[in-house]
Amino acid sequence: MPADASSATAMLPSRIAQNRYNAQTIVSDKLTSADSGEPLAIGVDIGGTAIKAAIVGLRGDLLESFHEPSPRTVSALHDFVHSVLKRAKVPVRGIGIGCKGIIDAASSRVKSCPGDLCFLEGQLLSEVIAAGDLPVCAENDARMGGAALVDGAIFHGAGGAAGHLGHVTLDPRGGLCICGSYGCLETHFSSRAIESDYWAHMHRAAPAKLSVGSDGRRPDAEAIFRAAANGDESACCVIDRALEYLAAAIVNFLHIFDPEIFILGGNIAAAGPQLIAPIRDKIAQRTKILLGREVPIVFQKTIGYGGVAGAAGLVFLEQRLLAI
Ligand SMILES: [Zn+2]
Repeated sequence: MPADASSATAMLPSRIAQNRYNAQTIVSDKLTSADSGEPLAIGVDIGGTAIKAAIVGLRGDLLESFHEPSPRTVSALHDFVHSVLKRAKVPVRGIGIGCKGIIDAASSRVKSCPGDLCFLEGQLLSEVIAAGDLPVCAENDARMGGAALVDGAIFHGAGGAAGHLGHVTLDPRGGLCICGSYGCLETHFSSRAIESDYWAHMHRAAPAKLSVGSDGRRPDAEAIFRAAANGDESACCVIDRALEYLAAAIVNFLHIFDPEIFILGGNIAAAGPQLIAPIRDKIAQRTKILLGREVPIVFQKTIGYGGVAGAAGLVFLEQRLLAI
């Protein structure tokens, strides 16, 4: 997921957690999985600011990881993926690509990709990568919301755009979102939303302990979470408000999907279980009548490379190596 990634939310069957896919992070250049003959795939996550990749084992372990600033041309993307491919010391099963925007998973065509990656619009990712006989699977990443996994498959909807959970409207009179709608979850609970809200507090000279760095950088979401934990009044206000919106969104998702489990990912998941603690009871309270049970809310463990592990998982799912 890109550095500016917000919350990524996904509802997956608990079986995916039970078989330990993506249940742990092992970043090691000791190719233990290769030694054991475990199937490997290359996962690539193309974000607006960074591109990440890894050689990933069937259990979701990252054997070796790579990242660099996002490509700005088709040939730069091709070259990055092939440089990763060369690092794999044993044959891989395929290349899974997660990319922002809307991807036609069946053909790997990028149907829509606003912003810095617009050069990919209309491109077939399998052709861009041109990896010979090696299968290339593609899917939109979870940056703009999330995904619903239904009976072991990503739910695409009629036009392939389903799962943009970040764009559920929480405030019809809210701010304009990248998607063209207003008041989306993304505009209230995301790294950028939290950072801009904190900046607004600083701009109004509200009591705030963080300040603009000597290099002109404004506090990032991670620093704001830390500041809130240390009692920074503005940070507490910003985080409390963002969590209110997250709770409301999760209640919506639970009512719509009635999932076995709800997984929170993205860089924001680095805040860990304490992120959900203040809103867990609220969510349970608001869903108990219709759901009649408490849906487990867990955190993706592969912080920072969850999109990469997920992209590789597309290959394993496609080849029925991952039993869900
Ligand atoms: Zn939106």
